[in-house]
Amino acid sequence: MVVFALLCTSQIIVSGASAQTAKVLGARLGVYPDYTRFVIDLDQEVDFTYFLLPDPYRIIIDMPEIDWNAPPGKVTSGGGLISGLRYGLFKPGTFRVVLDVAQPSLVSKIFSLPPGGGKPNRLVVDLKPTQRDAFLTASRQSMEAYSARSRNDTSATEQSVDVAVQSGRGGEEKPLIAIDAGHGGVDPGAIGVGNVYEKDLTLAAARQLAETLTASGRYRVLLTRDKDVFLKLRQRVDIARKAGADLFISLHADSIGNPKHRGASVYTLSENASDKEAAALASKENKADVIAGIDLSDENTLVQSILIDLAQRETMNLSATLAANMVSQLAQSIELQRRTHRFAGFAVLKAPDIPSALFEMGYLSNATDAKLLQSPAHRKKIADAVLRAIDIYFEKHKF
Ligand SMILES: [Zn+2]
Repeated sequence: MVVFALLCTSQIIVSGASAQTAKVLGARLGVYPDYTRFVIDLDQEVDFTYFLLPDPYRIIIDMPEIDWNAPPGKVTSGGGLISGLRYGLFKPGTFRVVLDVAQPSLVSKIFSLPPGGGKPNRLVVDLKPTQRDAFLTASRQSMEAYSARSRNDTSATEQSVDVAVQSGRGGEEKPLIAIDAGHGGVDPGAIGVGNVYEKDLTLAAARQLAETLTASGRYRVLLTRDKDVFLKLRQRVDIARKAGADLFISLHADSIGNPKHRGASVYTLSENASDKEAAALASKENKADVIAGIDLSDENTLVQSILIDLAQRETMNLSATLAANMVSQLAQSIELQRRTHRFAGFAVLKAPDIPSALFEMGYLSNATDAKLLQSPAHRKKIADAVLRAIDIYFEKHKF
C-alpha cells in the first residue's frame, strides 16, 4: 500500500483519468422473443472480460477504467431477462458492469462493434434464458477463464489503493482516525429520494469530517477511499489496520420502506444484534461485497470472515464508549432515532484492535434527511459533533 503523508494540508488526492479513457455515450436494452440485448455506446473500443455469478444470478463485465457519466436511462430498471444494472469503479484500473438477471441466463454472444450506420463503438451482450444447472456450469467455466486471464495479464494485478494520510502540526503522536466512506464505485449503497446515492453522500461527509478533524490540529486522518471506487469490507478494515489507526468510523445513510422514518443512529459490533432492525441493517450493509461481485484476482476472497474472539472484548468496550460519546454529542446537533446506539454483526467493524463505530447519518428514503445530508452546512454540523465526541474519547482514554 502506498501511504502519502502530507503535513498541514486538507488536500484530497484524486487520481486524474488518462487522456485515453473511453467514455460511455449511452446504454440501451433490446428485448426480443428469444433473447435480450444489452448495448453500451462508447467513444472508442474497450477490452472486456466477463463471468457469471449465481445466487442471485448476475452477469459481471469488467473493463479498463472508463468514464460513465452519461445517464443510463431506463436500462437501470431492466427489461427482458435483465432486472437491473449497476456500474462503477471496482478497483483502480477496473470498471465493472453488473447485469442482474431475474432467471438463469447465458451470455450467448458478447462482442465489440466498430462505428457504423451513424452509431459509435458498441459493446454488445446477448443473453438467452437457460436452466440453473447449465448456468452453474457456465459460471464455473467463466470464472476459471477469467482467473486464468487475470493471472496472465500483468495489468490485471491488483494495484495498491492510494491512501491519503493527512497530518496536522506536530505529527506522529497525534491519534490517527480512519474515516470510512461507505460503499462506492459499482456499489451505490442506498438510493434515496431524488435519486441521491449513498456512496456520494458518505464520501462528501467523510471529506468534511477529515477537514474538521485535521483543522482541529489534534488528529491525523485517513480516508479508506477518497474517490468513487469500490472497496471490499475487509479491505476497508485492512487499510485502517495497516496504517495503525486508533479509531475507525464508517459513514453510511440507510433507506427503508417507510418514507416518514428519519434520524441518525450509531452502531457497534456485537455477536448478538440488539434488535431485528439492527440485524437486518447489518446484513444489508454486509452485502456490499455481494452487490459488487467477487474479485477473482484475489485468492483470499473466500477467507474473509474474522472470528470475534476474547481479545476483541476490550476493543468492543472502547467502541461502545466511542458510540456513546457520538450519540451524546450528535444529540445536540441533529435528529437522532429513539434507539440510538445499537449493535449487530457489521463486517466492516471487525478490526480486532481498533475501536470502531458505524454511523448511519440518516434515512435517504426520507425527504428531509436526504435533503439535509446533501447540505454542506449539515455535514459540517455532523463533523463538529463527531470531533467533540472524539475529543471526549481521548480525554478519557489517554493512550
Ligand atoms: Zn450503507
